[in-house]
Amino acid sequence: MASRIIGRSTHCICLLVILGCGLFHPARAQRPRAKYRVLAVYSDKVERDHLDFAHQAVRFFSTTARKDHFSFTATTNWDDLNTANLAKYDLVLWLNDSPHTAPQRKAFEQYMEHGGGWLGFHVAAYTDGETGWPWFTSFLGSAVFSGNSWPPLPAILSVDDESHPIARDIPQTFLSPSNEWYVWTPSPRLHAGVRVLLTLSPSNYPLGLKDTIVSGDVPVVWTNTAYRMLYVNMGHGDRIFSSDMQNQFFENAVLWLAPASFKPLR
Ligand code: ZN
Repeated sequence: MASRIIGRSTHCICLLVILGCGLFHPARAQRPRAKYRVLAVYSDKVERDHLDFAHQAVRFFSTTARKDHFSFTATTNWDDLNTANLAKYDLVLWLNDSPHTAPQRKAFEQYMEHGGGWLGFHVAAYTDGETGWPWFTSFLGSAVFSGNSWPPLPAILSVDDESHPIARDIPQTFLSPSNEWYVWTPSPRLHAGVRVLLTLSPSNYPLGLKDTIVSGDVPVVWTNTAYRMLYVNMGHGDRIFSSDMQNQFFENAVLWLAPASFKPLR
């Protein structure tokens, strides 16, 4: 009986302490603000394979966000690329498209020129004669889409710099799941400010059946060192997240781009 009374008293004291903390330290009752805030933007009226990728990417990065303690928001509204909204985020992902209106593009340019972060996938870097956005071509390291393999196939990728943080726990070569692989002319590797981080291994050639890559240097992942950015060519179809190895690379990439861990390459 005595012990029960002591137990009740202890509960009362604990309750008072909790209430007291709430009264005198109201800040402690609030949820801490996320330190790293990531926004993903994608289009839902695009090629089915690109939408499948975007949906899977949203699921993958939502899970990664919970594991690695960053906030993750996804939207299909490209007008969210405005100065006021971008100021809330440390990193912007383009999953399957790029902005098409002048205000969206201008806001993004200003965001990146003032320290914003970008991780673009696959068709996000597609440009052609009608794109009409020279700043973006320069941002990509002067890379211009000039062709692709077809149908989507797995390919062996080579890590260019094994000491780079995005190569952590990744072997020097690995099999990347089925993807449509893009070719760039000129190659971003020719740009003095670009560091290529993953390359299509020549051992894949000829790669494709209808449209075939038979030779040449084909960068797959690179960064333009003038910005906190990374372009990743993977992003076509529903197999992209089927490799634990590649998933580790994606996680490494988003963590490397966090302002707290990012170190510009020179
Ligand atoms: Zn594609």
